[in-house]
Amino acid sequence: MSSDRRIRRITIVGGGTAGWMSAATFARILGPDYAEITLVESDEIGIVGVGEATIPQMATFNRMLGIDEDEFLRATKGSFKLGIQFVDWGRKGHTYFHPFGHIGLHMEGVSFHAYWLRLKQAGLVDRIEDWSLQAVASARGKFMRAINAGRSPLSEIAYAFHFDAGLYARYLRSFAEARGVVRREGKIVRVHQHPETGFVQSVELADGTKVEGDLFIDCSGFRGLLIEGTLKAGYVDWSHHLPCNRAVAVPCEGTEAMAPYTRSTARKAGWQWRIPLQHRIGNGHVFCSEYMSDDEAVSLLLSNLDGKPLADPRFVPFQTGHRRKMWDKNVVAIGLSSGFLEPLESTSIWLIQSGLSRLMAMFPDLDFDPVTRDRYNRILTTEYAEIRDFLILHYKATERDDTPFWNYCRTMPVPERLQEKMDVFMAHGRTFRENEELFNDTSWFAVMLGQLMVPRGYDPVANILSLDETKARLDHIKDAISNSADYMPTHRDFIRQHCGA
Ligand SMILES: Cc1cc2nc3c(=O)[nH]c(=O)nc-3n(C[C@H](O)[C@H](O)[C@H](O)COP(=O)(O)OP(=O)(O)OC[C@H]3O[C@@H](n4cnc5c(N)ncnc54)[C@H](O)[C@@H]3O)c2cc1C
Repeated sequence: MSSDRRIRRITIVGGGTAGWMSAATFARILGPDYAEITLVESDEIGIVGVGEATIPQMATFNRMLGIDEDEFLRATKGSFKLGIQFVDWGRKGHTYFHPFGHIGLHMEGVSFHAYWLRLKQAGLVDRIEDWSLQAVASARGKFMRAINAGRSPLSEIAYAFHFDAGLYARYLRSFAEARGVVRREGKIVRVHQHPETGFVQSVELADGTKVEGDLFIDCSGFRGLLIEGTLKAGYVDWSHHLPCNRAVAVPCEGTEAMAPYTRSTARKAGWQWRIPLQHRIGNGHVFCSEYMSDDEAVSLLLSNLDGKPLADPRFVPFQTGHRRKMWDKNVVAIGLSSGFLEPLESTSIWLIQSGLSRLMAMFPDLDFDPVTRDRYNRILTTEYAEIRDFLILHYKATERDDTPFWNYCRTMPVPERLQEKMDVFMAHGRTFRENEELFNDTSWFAVMLGQLMVPRGYDPVANILSLDETKARLDHIKDAISNSADYMPTHRDFIRQHCGA
């Protein structure tokens, strides 16, 4: 058999969230004895630095690194997130909540959604949010982690984080450097390839030094320095389905009552985010330049802040879609260099995490087996497409007809898989999680209902309980959730006590 064909040198290009998450992962899992890990970044170019909201899977990443959650929140001035509040999406004046975790309880092997919908159609219940502890706690500004409380809703509280992206990159940098990662500062001006195979051999910095590698991780952001600039992987453009293509971001002063959720407010040609951190609020306006000028976008944003702006507004142009190949030859693109789906459901950092965990599961040796590479590309491309469909739903399922942008979104054709999901929901209110897709049946149900889709019927299996029995059981669950939310401290108090910066 051949001798050790292991990768000995991993070179990461870029020191944003993706670069440092990659460095921390390799340092933790492989360690410096397995391979030399070098990260090159350019202070002159800087990072995007606006990824501030996450989904619950982020906690798994922290656990994998062995990071203490309170320490991480102190270092990044972070806060907790129980879900997303959507304002003005289905129609102007209407609000709903997409919570993390489950809604209600499955009973007798039948989904809670089915029972709830039956009662809703009988006019016996109102808002589904009342059956989610995450949603009720959010409305009351409460937060705590789950405790061991038997069958109480307090035993299961799903949450994610908001954090300062710049501080996060710094935090991961010290984590990675302490575990042997070498950082090189400098602007890459040239990329050298093997004359026959086209494999990347080294990157050259402005001062003429070369950084070599066996495996290159392209974390250079939207520009995709290696994956596109050198290897010309190509881009699959999804802007006909997700037409927003610019964002303008500005932080502002925070308030004492720190909301434990992200808010997304639909605007004339896009939407605005609000992300509360310990020391400030992150805000941004995502919009489509075909329907709105930069001047209008920034003035709308500035006139809808909770406090005084703390910096000048910063524009970030983007194109929704993904790289045709995310792994080509000896280059794997992670982060914005692999694609971008806009931040509506905070999925970009998750896609970094997912890319890294799949890369670790399919880690190459110097042979760079094409079968493994193709499998990686297929899985990641499917994952992008599944998330894309969930995002499109927010734009497509709306009653809004007050602007040309919303008229475009409401009437645009959608991918077949999404259309089928919508049709199935409209028949009996059924939602499914398919294969390993990120968003589960609860997320699809919450957003479809929230976007004002009204199913024609309900799942007939919900008839296994009488209407009275169903109502009594749902009332009981609702009370248990409300009492649990009463018991919880405010979000601000919880942070002060456990992880205040
Ligand atoms: C408007 C907006 C809002 C977002 N909100 C969220 C959110 O709420 N949640 C979420 O999960 N994600 C969000 N994202 C995505 C998130 O910001 C990114 O996924 C994340 O920051 C990773 O970025 P990155 O590291 O890939 O790229 P960048 O942050 O752009 O980093 C690129 C790195 O490459 C380096 N580099 C580039 N070229 C060179 C060169 N020639 N030489 C040397 N170094 C170079 C740069 O110096 C930098 O260090 C958002 C993105 C946008 C645009």
